[in-house]
Amino acid sequence: MATKGDLLYAWTTDSGLASKAECGGAVTALLRHALETKMVDAVVAVTKGYDIYDAIPVAVTDPKELDMTAGSLHCGTLLLATFIKNYLDGAKKMKLGVVVKGCDLMGLLEEAKRNDVDMKNIITIGVNCGGSVSPGVARKMIKAKYGVDPDTVHKEEIDKGQFIIEYEGGHKGISVDELEEEGFGRRSNCRRCLYKVPRQADLACGNWGVIGDKAGKATFVEVCSEKGADLLTKAVAAKKLDVEVANPKGIEIRGKVEGAMLKLGAKWRQHDFTALRDNLWDTINKETSRCVKCYSCIEKCPVCTATAFKGRDESLMVRRGKLPSDPMFHLRRFAHISDSCINCGQCEELCPMEIPLALFSHAIRVEADNAFEPKLGKPVYSN
Ligand code: FAD
Repeated sequence: MATKGDLLYAWTTDSGLASKAECGGAVTALLRHALETKMVDAVVAVTKGYDIYDAIPVAVTDPKELDMTAGSLHCGTLLLATFIKNYLDGAKKMKLGVVVKGCDLMGLLEEAKRNDVDMKNIITIGVNCGGSVSPGVARKMIKAKYGVDPDTVHKEEIDKGQFIIEYEGGHKGISVDELEEEGFGRRSNCRRCLYKVPRQADLACGNWGVIGDKAGKATFVEVCSEKGADLLTKAVAAKKLDVEVANPKGIEIRGKVEGAMLKLGAKWRQHDFTALRDNLWDTINKETSRCVKCYSCIEKCPVCTATAFKGRDESLMVRRGKLPSDPMFHLRRFAHISDSCINCGQCEELCPMEIPLALFSHAIRVEADNAFEPKLGKPVYSN
């Protein structure tokens, strides 16, 4: 029987699923079991869209269809919190099993504080995340640094600090550090992220610390709540999942890798925020002067819910037909979300004018985090 605090290796007993999954298929097996036994009405996960750079959110209700969500996609532009809030009524009328990276989870927690999402109806299976890559950057990087046509790539992965691609005719890995030194690599908000192991989920799963004969064939599971322990116990009892206690050396390695990633995140924060602090207002003024008022930053933000921003009525700051928009439009928005920007990067990722919006609101939020409670991403309920 699993209990909160357990550190385990887990893998599916279904060989078909194991071959499709990223690291042994524990995540998909757990979710399939939850769906089969009606612990949840639907599972929210991710599947490959047009190509491997296109990761699309899906809500699956038939357990037989869940295998299509197995595997990790490191490119793609998505935040599952917004998907659940906008299209699944914030799980207020149905029970959901959801796969969450740190940002997905923080988004859900912030939305729950606004009563936009009901966390009581959600089981969260967290996946550790060292960061993801924007689809456009991935394509440019693969062409420029790997000398490979991005359309011939059929698999990508991030392993042992390398971004690795498999393509027609071979495979190639380049260190993420090297890619980032040359302006490629992970999204800038991911570099600054300090939520690598999502311990506020019910289970936190990842490949760090899986060593020996289980390397690549099992997932390291940290049991973070009673809800997570219950799901895991039931899936093992139903023989959908095998588990063993994590190797102590593996636990140590996982801790070291997480520590190194957190240090790197802190380094990127210092790098980005110091440069900004030197010339904050001029930088914001100059960058936001490219704004074309498409409202994408507002519509995609998981925490920006003010109707004042959503309406396109005349206001002092947003005047019809007037470009660029008044800088106060953005300053007011930063102030509005300053208590809860989760640094998901969606505003920046989807800005057609490439304004570094996430950098501005994240810098403001981090300052607020130094002064106020609850800290970013901390739930007001206990899981
Ligand atoms: P599977 O059974 O293959 O299931 C994986 C689940 O993840 C599926 O439900 C799938 O839909 C979902 N998924 C795939 N892509 C995304 C996405 N972009 N956003 C949200 N959900 C997604 N582990 C580490 O230890 N260190 C890392 O640095 C690390 N980085 C990761 C980065 C990303 C973007 C992702 C998605 C995962 C990362 N992981 C990392 C977790 C690891 O890759 C495996 O997902 C985990 O070990 C579970 O393996 P599995 O075989 O049990 O999962």
